[in-house]
Amino acid sequence: MMGKKIFVTQPTLPNLDGFIESLKEIWENKWLTNDGKFHKEFENKLAKFLGVKYISLFSNGTLALISALQVLRITGEVITTPYSFVATTHALWWNGIKPVFADIELNYCNIDAERIETAITPKTTAILPVHVYGNPCNVDRIQDIADRYGLKVIYDAAHAFGVEKNDNSILNYGDLSILSFHATKIFNTIEGGAIICHDKKTKKRIDFLKNFGFADEVTVVAPGINAKMNELQAAYGLLQLNTYQKELWKRMEIVNLYRNLLHNTKGITFFNDIPNVKHNYAYFPILVDKNKYRYERDELYAILKKHNIYARRYFYPLISDFSVYRGLPSANHENLISARIIAKQVICLPLYSNLSFEDVEQISKIIKTV
Ligand SMILES: *Cc1c(COP(=O)(O)O)cnc(C)c1O
Repeated sequence: MMGKKIFVTQPTLPNLDGFIESLKEIWENKWLTNDGKFHKEFENKLAKFLGVKYISLFSNGTLALISALQVLRITGEVITTPYSFVATTHALWWNGIKPVFADIELNYCNIDAERIETAITPKTTAILPVHVYGNPCNVDRIQDIADRYGLKVIYDAAHAFGVEKNDNSILNYGDLSILSFHATKIFNTIEGGAIICHDKKTKKRIDFLKNFGFADEVTVVAPGINAKMNELQAAYGLLQLNTYQKELWKRMEIVNLYRNLLHNTKGITFFNDIPNVKHNYAYFPILVDKNKYRYERDELYAILKKHNIYARRYFYPLISDFSVYRGLPSANHENLISARIIAKQVICLPLYSNLSFEDVEQISKIIKTV
């Protein structure tokens, strides 16, 4: 039994004195939102930091995703994964688009490219995959399918901040990628998000759309929305960039400790690093095989809770099992067998830079010895 409650994550906050300095400046400027000084600086620095050409800041990841679909004028049907946070599919719904679920691969829990191809119909206009846990999707194969069928690709990269493949940001793949800077994510601006694009013209359209469609004082070019990030969040985000690398190293150490402690536990498996991928160690999911481990996943989940350890079942239930989506033809059981297997086995263990090695040892010991 842990003396204190341990949650699956804990946000890292920027240096308070530094933030107060920024606040003083904002108080002097009296410029709170609409592309202010901090917003401009954060956009520029973040693009360089991530190794992408263009980025547009948003008030949250969900609005970034909803807007991304508008940017590319996506309609009809979009092929997506049931194994994600519910906002991925909600963004389609808010655009009047029909979600078509394709099953995932068992290796890294990302959408299965082969299953994308069989889900394509004349109404399909785009693919919306998710880099689940920050593990890159099969981006080359997905692009190949998109090119052959004339489809757009929008990546929900909410988990993939800082992830690189062959020294290239994973955000450079597809037509657009979206990020989330929610408090629970590896890089947070309290709430926040972004769209990454690869050309100036698209960046312009994104920036119009997130500000009601205004191109200038008297011109509205599209029925836009209000999804702007404010100056306080941008100033907070700028400071977060200073400590990100340290944060990443600490998370890597914790993940490696978990791996060392759990690697011989019968019925417990986890993901290892992928060659040529720079990971961000945003989550530490384990899979519980009830045929080999003493307990089912939900039993282990309850045991951890009894010990004051609040792990989370990301992702369970599947999006396709929520009442709003379960009536869709693609939500049927036979279509999503692999996703169901993983959703029944997964638990994400506590992981944040402030988590002590002793806590990791305790958590691992409970899993090994219950
Ligand atoms: C967090 C998350 C979102 C939503 O981002 P918000 O910033 O919370 O709106 C979307 N997709 C995935 C996969 C997420 O994890």
